[in-house]
Amino acid sequence: MSKFVITCIAHGKNLPQETIDQIAKEIIKSSTKETSIKNIKKLSTRATDIFVEVAESVLQKTFRNELMCLIEGRDDVDLIVSADNEYRQAKKLFVFDMDSTLIYQEVIELIAAYAGVEKQVHDITERAMNNELDFKESLRERVKLLKGLQIDTLYDEIKQKLEITKGVPELCKFLHDKDCKLAVLSGGFIQFASFIKDQLNLDFCKANLLEVGAGGKLTGKTLGPIVDGQCKSETLLQLCNDYTVPVEASCMVGDGGNDLPAMAAAGFGIAWNAKPKVQNAAPCRLNTESMTDILYILGYTDDEIYDRQ
Ligand SMILES: [Mg+2]
Repeated sequence: MSKFVITCIAHGKNLPQETIDQIAKEIIKSSTKETSIKNIKKLSTRATDIFVEVAESVLQKTFRNELMCLIEGRDDVDLIVSADNEYRQAKKLFVFDMDSTLIYQEVIELIAAYAGVEKQVHDITERAMNNELDFKESLRERVKLLKGLQIDTLYDEIKQKLEITKGVPELCKFLHDKDCKLAVLSGGFIQFASFIKDQLNLDFCKANLLEVGAGGKLTGKTLGPIVDGQCKSETLLQLCNDYTVPVEASCMVGDGGNDLPAMAAAGFGIAWNAKPKVQNAAPCRLNTESMTDILYILGYTDDEIYDRQ
């Protein structure tokens, strides 16, 4: 038998007992293979773990897809399926995307607004979302629009606008206290990724570098290899190697299509308030308000998270 744990996380303040009962009943009813519930553990008023055993032949992904059908159309709860093993809680590397993940905004849009080219940048983003352009092309085209921009005041003005996502500082502190390494890998720009790295005391950052030409003006190009999905995935595996962390003990958190390869390469992946396509393709989705909810996915209780005895 395979052991899985289903974490139910409410979007609101409470996860009603009847919702838990309903989900538990559905798990048994809908499953074609022999599935049994072994234990139910309350993590907080908003989160509960349901421990199940399923036939060895049932893959975690298949089981997860079955569960997703159960809650289709519901926007009050997320169900996350994890393998019930030592690596679930003992994560030693967390890698985060930056834009719309660690921070609320998309930095390229902030720069575009600063430069007065919002419309053009928005059009390119739309085309990329419709798969007319891949990530690298769309980045090149958007960066081209920034040519001639003076960087002297740009960086500081943008940095002041960056807003860290709710729950991120608490999550990062908690994970650091558990000896977990933390990294940000961004398809945006290094000046801002390293600023966020310093703000959150992260261990590593990687992002694209905007080229600066004569007179401190942007040339409209980036320098060095572009950080795209493949680069994020390779860097995650490199970090596992550098920090001597088993891949199973790593986790990728992001919202974009370019975060999916790293989610697939990592031990676990979390689509954070992501686009629908990303939510479906990722190992799990979390559509709540605070990123500290990730600690429920690792099986921590409120008493452990908030150090209450
Ligand atoms: Mg993003």
